[in-house]
Amino acid sequence: MRPIVIAGNWKMNTTPTEAGPLATELALAMTDDAVIRVVCPPAICLPAVAAALDGTGVAVGTQNVHAEQAGAFTGEISAAMVAPYVTWAIVGHSERRRDQGETDALIGRKLVRCREHGLRPILCVGETLDQRESGVAETIVLSQLAGALDGLDGEMRSAAASWLVIAYEPVWAIGTGRTATGVDAGRIAEVVRDGLQEHGIEAAAVPVLYGGSVTSAAVGEFLAEPGIDGALVGGASLKVDEMAGIVARAGITARARAVAAGR
Ligand code: PEP
Repeated sequence: MRPIVIAGNWKMNTTPTEAGPLATELALAMTDDAVIRVVCPPAICLPAVAAALDGTGVAVGTQNVHAEQAGAFTGEISAAMVAPYVTWAIVGHSERRRDQGETDALIGRKLVRCREHGLRPILCVGETLDQRESGVAETIVLSQLAGALDGLDGEMRSAAASWLVIAYEPVWAIGTGRTATGVDAGRIAEVVRDGLQEHGIEAAAVPVLYGGSVTSAAVGEFLAEPGIDGALVGGASLKVDEMAGIVARAGITARARAVAAGR
């Protein structure tokens, strides 16, 4: 049975002074341990957030790692540097694809770095509005997956169920207040699993999340889709009440799925 994961991407918000108290408040509000809960603050806030969340059951993630181990990459941060503080990593977010020109091949190298350092990557894929309107959303998602998974070796593919998570995040839904429909996201989740299977990955065991303007009011529509296993939450992840509602709703799904699976 796949876990239900709710991950919050704080993006470039909060200072180290603000981040610890916010993480503490979130941990007190996101109490359902049937759900894997992950908080991804800016890199400079990772030590403060890791200290605040220690012993709470809420995991810490980084928003990015560099594709190389170390070297002359001014201003960058490596998987080894964040590994003492985090167990999760967002990889290939559309804002980085757009603003830093990240390519699928580069993103694939970041997945390898995550595996080397014991981090669970949340690999983000998703089409732009133009691509959706041109009817190529599925093709784009499949090619993003193929490009990123290409560099994984046999061990990484065969162990993928225990470390890889995919987030389907249509670019036009991120930060816009517009969401995909549950049915639409569920259909793309199936496409994602077809793509994983083609790369020798046991797709049925890999969690697929939805991301794009998720709120406590909207999350139920996505969790109702059997192929969707949680959410990557941006704007709402800074709001304690919203995250409380999202995790509570996800807990209902986690328990219902456990009952259905006879656990
Ligand atoms: C995101 O940052 O991954 C995201 C989905 O943002 P938002 O929820 O604000 O659309």
